[in-house]
Amino acid sequence: SLKVPNNEMIINPKDSDQEWQKYSEAVKKVPRNLDIPMIINGKKVFSQNKVKNLNPSNGEAIGSYQQADATHSQLAIDAALNAKEKWASLSPATRIQKFRDLENILLKWKYELCAVSSVECGYNSYETYVEWAELMDFVRFNNYFYADILSEQLGDGWGETNQIQMRPLKGFTCAVTPFNFPQAIGYNLPLVMALTGNTVVWKPSDDAVMSGYMLMLALDEAGFPPGVINMITGDGKPCLPTVLTHPELTAVNFTGSFQTARAFGNYLYNTEYPRANFPRYVAETGGKDFLVADSDIDVIDTARCIIQGAFGRSGQKCSANSVALIHETIWPELRSALLKETDSLIVCNAIERKCDVGPVINERQFNKITSYIDRAKNDKNCKIIAGGTYEKNNGFYVSPTIIEVYVDKHELLSEEIFGPVIAVRTYKKFEDAVSIIQQHNYRLTGSVISKNENFLEQAVPVLSQLAGNFYVNRKTTGAIVNMQPFGGDGASGTNGKAGGKWYLLNFISQGTITRRN
Ligand code: GLU
Repeated sequence: SLKVPNNEMIINPKDSDQEWQKYSEAVKKVPRNLDIPMIINGKKVFSQNKVKNLNPSNGEAIGSYQQADATHSQLAIDAALNAKEKWASLSPATRIQKFRDLENILLKWKYELCAVSSVECGYNSYETYVEWAELMDFVRFNNYFYADILSEQLGDGWGETNQIQMRPLKGFTCAVTPFNFPQAIGYNLPLVMALTGNTVVWKPSDDAVMSGYMLMLALDEAGFPPGVINMITGDGKPCLPTVLTHPELTAVNFTGSFQTARAFGNYLYNTEYPRANFPRYVAETGGKDFLVADSDIDVIDTARCIIQGAFGRSGQKCSANSVALIHETIWPELRSALLKETDSLIVCNAIERKCDVGPVINERQFNKITSYIDRAKNDKNCKIIAGGTYEKNNGFYVSPTIIEVYVDKHELLSEEIFGPVIAVRTYKKFEDAVSIIQQHNYRLTGSVISKNENFLEQAVPVLSQLAGNFYVNRKTTGAIVNMQPFGGDGASGTNGKAGGKWYLLNFISQGTITRRN
């Protein structure tokens, strides 16, 4: 069976002087004054309209990027359509080889990639290492998955022999990717589409444009033909409608907010726009990811699961644990453990070795997250028991915050916050915990903690149906490629399951050829 490189590759740079040295050297070299171009048809493209690229750890500009408009989108679409026939007609083995070359380059660029993620997006050194390992897993395993899918054989009989073809989709495809895993998710979405023979217009998050540019440089170095992946940048409103309404668009692969996913959906199936195909749509949106702790638990271990799940990457994960439902008898003990663990977390500039919790991505997210904290401060139905402080004079920092909620219906129990804030609600009966989860329709991740097998026997079948990825005696975050294909349904998206074999089928059009003997 295949090995899991993720587990083997990660050395925490905080614990290794040698790794730390390499990481921090790379951090020093991250350009602080780069005008990041778009890359269309293999060429740098600049716009009149430039936007400052900010480092969220100190609020300072680290150069600028281009705001794309409809003209740039049209150029990118034309490039993708022009490159399509040749790229699609290469043998899959040739494309797989290109992806191996890319893998080697990304392997070589480990420190540079991690450093860019820290400086541009504010993830601490360890978080960037984990993400890089996930990226390597995606690239490597997608090759295996693709080869496996291509080996599919149909049955023959009734005097007929059958053949299956795994064709690319028609036309061109589009990927729109988030800031929160700028290189793992950010790269995987356009790469999977390209691997399966499609050409792509890609818009990375405007908070992760330097990461985006790094992939374009890596593709060039690996010898990918121009036009296979074209990167446009900036706010989506001026540039994406041109892409989303185009008749030749045949798939959208999106990770981001629920609202944006809905807005894209409106474009895709609006009959106003003529279409050559029914576009495929894969959307991974948000979560209100829950942890249910029974009375019979290891308190310290549970506290750590909650802390890591809630505050890793400053809570900016779709899988972040943002509601903990705790059996009331264990709460006093768990509460003390949680407060102690939370108190020891160091919030600071992501590039510092001691950093546990870096900044949040930008001022807009900061304002959204802190508005929940402000409302909680004036609300009798809840109480902030840890954190609750924030500042944005010098970077966008929110301290890890735990809010105890005293009622069953509350925005903190049902809305995604996407920051280092977790709500806790105690329960008496298991059914009460379940109905709190059922108040919202996010179905991304969830977890249950208990040492009691009888309780697990009752809880797992019920709770596991409320999440696409469900974990027993583990935190809600950290799905691993080929081990826990990731995604959920309901308000959490179309459950495409990135990191699993079947994910690739979203971008493949199967054909059969039958011959009468
Ligand atoms: N796959 C990640 C995890 O399991 C989360 C991805 C996301 O935030 O979109 O933690």
